Amino acid sequence: MTRERLYLFDTTLRDGAQTNGVDFTLADKLAIVGMLDELGIDYVEGGYPGANQTDTELFGEKRKLHTTFTAFGMTRRPGRSASNDPGLAMLLEAEADAICFVAKSWDYHVKVALETTPEENIASIRDSVRAAKSRGREVLLDCEHFFDGYKANPAFALACARAAYEEGARWVVLCDTNGGTLPHEVERIVGEVVKVIPGDHVGIHAHNDTEQAVANSLAAVRAGARQIQGTLNGLGERCGNANLVSIIPTLKLKPDYADAFEIGVSDAALQRLAQVSRALDERLNRAPNRHAPYVGESAFATKAGIHASAILKDPTTYEHVAPERVGNKRKVLVSEQAGKSNVLAELERIGIKADKDDPRVTRLLEIVKEREAIGYAYEAADASFELLARRTLGAVPDYFDVTQFDVTVEQRYNAVGERVTVAMAVVKVKIGDQSTISAAEGNGPVNALDQALRKDLGKYQKYIDSLSLSDFRVRILNSGTEAVTRVLIESEDDNGDRWTTVGVSSNIIDASFQALMDSIVFKLVKSGAPV
Ligand SMILES: [Zn+2]
Repeated sequence: MTRERLYLFDTTLRDGAQTNGVDFTLADKLAIVGMLDELGIDYVEGGYPGANQTDTELFGEKRKLHTTFTAFGMTRRPGRSASNDPGLAMLLEAEADAICFVAKSWDYHVKVALETTPEENIASIRDSVRAAKSRGREVLLDCEHFFDGYKANPAFALACARAAYEEGARWVVLCDTNGGTLPHEVERIVGEVVKVIPGDHVGIHAHNDTEQAVANSLAAVRAGARQIQGTLNGLGERCGNANLVSIIPTLKLKPDYADAFEIGVSDAALQRLAQVSRALDERLNRAPNRHAPYVGESAFATKAGIHASAILKDPTTYEHVAPERVGNKRKVLVSEQAGKSNVLAELERIGIKADKDDPRVTRLLEIVKEREAIGYAYEAADASFELLARRTLGAVPDYFDVTQFDVTVEQRYNAVGERVTVAMAVVKVKIGDQSTISAAEGNGPVNALDQALRKDLGKYQKYIDSLSLSDFRVRILNSGTEAVTRVLIESEDDNGDRWTTVGVSSNIIDASFQALMDSIVFKLVKSGAPV
């Protein structure tokens, strides 16, 4: 049975760059283009040449890629000729394989926003597509507000789309710009469009304002569209764009799609999907969404004891797909409600051999329960759990000992008379027979403590050089009569590995210290540092 080809178009670097707080540098953009290219995405939209310096530079030279590298821009302005429009000229000059024009397809917007006539809007589409074609570019047309436009005036919306197709645009992309269209509407309207324009020239560009961008993309495919536009991790303004990281595995692993369609992402590339998703968050300096479908840390995590024992016997009992297919891991959470089976499953996953009748396993479970009762959260702190397990069952070497630390916070006037708060930490560390004292300043007490602790660990320094803290979360818990502080620290190293550690105390510095210590010791264990 031959499968039909479905094309993926990524707009992380253009539409995704509209996200609040996202600002890609040229280096970011080049790295992300490389990642998408390796993943097997058919089209990568890099940006809007002429709109800013970064995008102009990005398209300033030819990039060696497998993907169809695409520049985005507007059709010629109303009332101008294609040869006398600086914006269009910029776009035609760009070193891109394809040009994706955006044009209005809602008559109301043509009148109110563009202040021109329907005829001129269509003429602008025709002229722009023709100009790009004559420069040898593949052409796409994003029909802005297509679904709202179609509901208001189907004949005009279709006329815009058809004009581009007739002039030789490879793709006419139907955009749900406001993101309010529902799947059944998308399916019906795309069904109407493909009667006029062949489906293998029709694309879908969905926004997530009703949290159905993925569903809308799949609805469009069911109705006949053969290109899906979206972004990594659903990045995009407001509620985001269609999330390619959810769409790709659905197309590859769900038989209804996998049997009917073929995409450019190979099985091997799919196994790197979780890594690609996390690498984007890394660039954005964001903590990954734990609950992201397929790739989130919790996507294959199970908590209750009865589920965990079933999962050990047969993983398919509680998993809709195998986590390793998308580069993710199964995780059995160790928690207050945990039974021995959770603990055993988690030990197996982290590579510790233990017998279910081993009294140390029972002891470990008791310790977990005792500590969770006073505020520790091991299901969120995998690395602290692993250390606790290794300590209880075997041995974690005493690499070093912090014999004393001292943290001060001082508020004073600086040399130019501004009031500043300065934190300083002094740490005494004993490694073997040697003692060292390190001091460091920080922007806060925990930061100062972290800096001082990691300043001089003697022979272990080389193992922790690449360690950095990527997230720090504090929660005040009310357990019994006194409030305690729980600190969760997420760390990472230059292998791209991430781990979370926990500390609990009535004192926030002490809680942070515990979590910092666990993070460093975990890194040493992980690196196989000799004692
Ligand atoms: Zn958009």
